[in-house]
Amino acid sequence: MAKKTLIIGGGIAGITAAQKIAQNGGTALLIEKEGHLGGNFAKLTYTFPVLADAKGIVTREIKTAEELAGIEILPRTTLESCRGEAGNFTVELGTPSGRRTEQVAAIVVAAGFHYMEPTAYTEYAYGRSAKVVTSLEFEKMAAEGRLPQGPARVVFVHCVGSRDKAKGYRYCSKICCSYSAKHAIMLKQANPEAKAYVFYIDIRALGKGYEEFIREAMEKYNVRYIRGRVAKVIESGDKLLVRAEDSLIGNPVEVEADLVVLASAMEPPQGSRALAGILGIATDEYGFFREAEANVRPCHSSKEGIFLAGSCTQPMEIAAAVAMGGLAASEALILSR
Ligand SMILES: Cc1cc2nc3c(=O)[nH]c(=O)nc-3n(C[C@H](O)[C@H](O)[C@H](O)COP(=O)(O)OP(=O)(O)OC[C@H]3O[C@@H](n4cnc5c(N)ncnc54)[C@H](O)[C@@H]3O)c2cc1C
Ligand code: SF4
Repeated sequence: MAKKTLIIGGGIAGITAAQKIAQNGGTALLIEKEGHLGGNFAKLTYTFPVLADAKGIVTREIKTAEELAGIEILPRTTLESCRGEAGNFTVELGTPSGRRTEQVAAIVVAAGFHYMEPTAYTEYAYGRSAKVVTSLEFEKMAAEGRLPQGPARVVFVHCVGSRDKAKGYRYCSKICCSYSAKHAIMLKQANPEAKAYVFYIDIRALGKGYEEFIREAMEKYNVRYIRGRVAKVIESGDKLLVRAEDSLIGNPVEVEADLVVLASAMEPPQGSRALAGILGIATDEYGFFREAEANVRPCHSSKEGIFLAGSCTQPMEIAAAVAMGGLAASEALILSR
């Protein structure tokens, strides 16, 4: 009987699953398609709801995983084939030094999410103007100290590609209300002279401290929240004109901006359907991995012995991805004893 667990994806969900397996006496083989661990967490500067140091936390968690004797990490590695059943799978891995075959008792899929490129939203001038960026690009600008200086105006636009069955996805991406507030606060902390505007449909911030965090953006940092959908972003000389309708008062509004930040949708990881095909597990209508039972078995896939962890099942924040990584690890350990 095989004893190892294969973990696919080295973001925080996969790292947590590997740590918990090793700390409980098991053995984890963690494969990551990129050259380094950390996933999307490693691209963040601070994390809501307390503006914690993202790079510091993710570096610490990677180091813990690297130092645990029960974890083998294989970067630039993908799953090529899988056969067998719960307790005894044979997997073939594509590694930089060629193919490698392993026997594993369980598999944890922690392939994360992809951040939508909002190119279909031509009305927002994304891809045409360098002053229109996604929220993930804003994280990079912040990390590199490239946020606008002086009395700049920055407009944050919610629900780009989410809650939009015409051009995007029907679902809500769950965390962009919170990270947009984080970005507005980061801007104001870096540059108190800047003005921040947030266009929203309604605020969804369900989590401990999330609602208070958004209130803080409004009340302590004077971020101006305007309820309404942005209709158009127009390039006007070296500025942008953001046109919307304030749906609370029913009037059109126009804000002149130096930077527009689009809170784009969190979508399924690239290649999720192909990976599901190799594993023989189900995806949902969007391509996220489908839970066997959303309520009480959220980390079970449609196949015994293959478990799910993190944002490859639905958009989620770090704390939820960590919780799911731990749960998937405990299920995998049952099969590896
Ligand atoms: C702009 C932005 C700001 C955010 N800010 C916050 C915040 O302040 N606080 C917060 O709690 N959350 C925040 N988040 C959410 C946070 O990024 C996620 O909760 C977290 O990254 C989810 O971790 P994960 O491990 O599920 O997925 P990911 O971080 O996506 O990691 C998945 C990993 O799997 C790898 N992978 C994918 N497919 C394969 C494959 N086939 N084979 C091998 N490896 C594969 C990927 O390369 C990646 O390394 C933010 C997200 C965005 C977009
Ligand atoms: S979390 Fe907020 S910004 Fe993101 S899709 Fe849901 S309502 Fe829109």
